[in-house]
Amino acid sequence: MRTLLVTFTLSLVIMGCKEQKPTPLTSIFPEGTKGAAKYFTGNAYNTGLVANDTTLTTVVGNVYFEPEARSNWHTHPAGQILIITDGIGYHQIEGQPKQTLKKGDVVKCPSNVRHWHGASPKVGLQQLYIVPNTEKGIVNWMETVTNEVYNQ
Ligand code: MN
Repeated sequence: MRTLLVTFTLSLVIMGCKEQKPTPLTSIFPEGTKGAAKYFTGNAYNTGLVANDTTLTTVVGNVYFEPEARSNWHTHPAGQILIITDGIGYHQIEGQPKQTLKKGDVVKCPSNVRHWHGASPKVGLQQLYIVPNTEKGIVNWMETVTNEVYNQ
């Protein structure tokens, strides 16, 4: 009886541990290519979905941020729209509190405002981006987001 109880308790503990494993994120897009270390901290993967042209002047793509990965500080001359399709992450406009992002969130980044986006420490982020009016420019990359800023 005692052995049975111990076995049962152990099974519960093991099952409990299994439930805490993070669920892999889903994406309907290919993983894409790893973002350059000069623009990203950690592992971020970009897939271009709509290439820039003179008719639509819009760039669309998907970024998968692994846990802890994030972009450098940057600006978009004509702004940007983010659509979160899975995971948990952050978006921060300089001087404002970090905003937590989750599946289904839509974020408008104003033009020429310093900001960064990325994954949470434990769960990655799947993020669609839309950059309009590319004739004004697409992105201006700046310095890395320090751990101090990321963990604030
Ligand atoms: Mn951005």
